[in-house]
Amino acid sequence: MTEPTTDWREIESRVFMRTGNRQPVVLVRGQGSRVWDDEGKSYLDFFGGTATTSLGHCHPTVVDALADQAQTLIHVSNLFYTVPQLQLAQLLIDHSCLDQVYFSNSGAEANEAAIKLARKWGREKKNGAFEIICTLDSFHGRTLTTITASGTDRYKEPFAPLPPGFVHVPYNDVEALRQATSDKTCAVLLEPIQGEGGVIVPDDDYLPAVRRWCDEQNVLLILDEVQTGIGRCGALFAYELAGIEPDVMTLAKGIASGVPLAAVLSKDHCAVFAPGDHGSTYGGNPLATRAGYEVVRHIIENEIPAKVADDERYVEQRLSSMEDRIPAVSGARGKGLLWAVTLSQPLAADIVATCLERGLIVNNVRPDAIRLCPALNIPREELSEGLDVLEGVLLELSGGPAK
Ligand SMILES: *Cc1c(COP(=O)(O)O)cnc(C)c1O
Repeated sequence: MTEPTTDWREIESRVFMRTGNRQPVVLVRGQGSRVWDDEGKSYLDFFGGTATTSLGHCHPTVVDALADQAQTLIHVSNLFYTVPQLQLAQLLIDHSCLDQVYFSNSGAEANEAAIKLARKWGREKKNGAFEIICTLDSFHGRTLTTITASGTDRYKEPFAPLPPGFVHVPYNDVEALRQATSDKTCAVLLEPIQGEGGVIVPDDDYLPAVRRWCDEQNVLLILDEVQTGIGRCGALFAYELAGIEPDVMTLAKGIASGVPLAAVLSKDHCAVFAPGDHGSTYGGNPLATRAGYEVVRHIIENEIPAKVADDERYVEQRLSSMEDRIPAVSGARGKGLLWAVTLSQPLAADIVATCLERGLIVNNVRPDAIRLCPALNIPREELSEGLDVLEGVLLELSGGPAK
């Protein structure tokens, strides 16, 4: 246990690179949907490490997998066959429309691999086509290439010059995508729902229309399911909800409930990597893939995506009732257990701070939007408890219910 007298915030301010702002809390322990700070205060966690702790904190499935694997084999590199990696690979292939997989440690790295795959595919199969069409307000990671693919200028400007070959169009706009396509286009890279962009859910016909356009133009469709995948949206993968199949898909966040692990998956026809093309020292090591294997298996065997789809109806109904009664709430959007409550004013940071004081962790994904992404296995009572706290804070802010 940490000494509560140690001023970790002061230490951080001296020794840690400041790349963002933190909530004023030192978290030391977690169990299920709750975490505790160094003063013993507990919080209900509706953030889950950015939609990552899919089975909640320290779930026995993850703890046992890590403990057992840590005593068996932690790391040997991809120069050797290892069992957990291939078990997870087989499981993901059996339950998705994709044929082959490669593991990495973060979502950004998985997207880098997807981008390299598309570039090589264009070079070999489409006369050197190299351009990738991405969307405004998208998020694909923080490496130099993935900030270039992402649709937020603020993340890119300090780091120019950026790699060439990325084009941006508005999300949810097939016509713009058509206009941007040329014989140089090798791929379209999209999130099925834009997570960091503010939980932007496209129209039902958007992804099917993009899929048809990619087929017509012989362009790969890469879906970044880093945030939406592994049950988050009420299906194992969000592409299922759109009734389409991507050529390439990336996964990370929820795949191992907090253990660093990511994956790029590809159909056979574009799995063009040959020996020497890609690699990773840690990527898919036995410790991480054992956790991933047990988490994904747990999610599938316990039909957690169906439970999440059920929760979606409950959350939607709770949030729409808030929209009706609370002037500060302008709307709600989301799928499964990935939601944003939108506000009529840019007060998301204040609401997050007040919720934190009352023992609820939520995230101001935009200045006017609060993201909710609790653990996929959160019990209904805790889901309702957290929504009650949020509702109370929103009501207060509005100065009481609507007349
Ligand atoms: C979080 C996220 C990433 C980046 O993942 P990291 O593990 O932080 O590199 C990429 N794409 C999407 C859609 C994400 O939500």
